[in-house]
Amino acid sequence: MSHDPDCIFCKIVEGKIPSRKVYEDDDIYAFHDIHPWAPVHFLLIPKQHVESMTHVDGSHAAMLGRMMSLVPQLAAQEGCRPYPEGGFRLVCNTGDDGGQEVKHLHFHVIGGPRPWLKG
Ligand code: 5GP
Ligand code: ZN
Repeated sequence: MSHDPDCIFCKIVEGKIPSRKVYEDDDIYAFHDIHPWAPVHFLLIPKQHVESMTHVDGSHAAMLGRMMSLVPQLAAQEGCRPYPEGGFRLVCNTGDDGGQEVKHLHFHVIGGPRPWLKG
């Protein structure tokens, strides 16, 4: 499994940096964002080091599909209310112009009762 020793999210996957776990399986890890933007804010990442959405290809399709299919279940588990009153925002910042600070692919799942959402 590809791994970058200088990457903070790889260190989180390895347990070298502590995190508050939301979900884990062989390929996927989810944990609470350290600086939440909203009442619910966790990050869903592949355990392997994939740098960004730009680096995704067909070999990642199954893993990405599983990540996406986990989102509603984990959002509900973490306190997002049921659709349509409840819900969440799914964000994947990509590259510098996309506001990506950590260069390990991650999906933000952001939700909880408003007001928190701007824009
Ligand atoms: P980006 O701007 O790259 O899309 O978002 C990176 C996110 O990672 C930010 O929301 C930031 O708060 C979060 N983050 C950065 N370092 C850590 C860390 O060490 N632990 C946790 N739990 N979150 C982090
Ligand atoms: Zn990494």
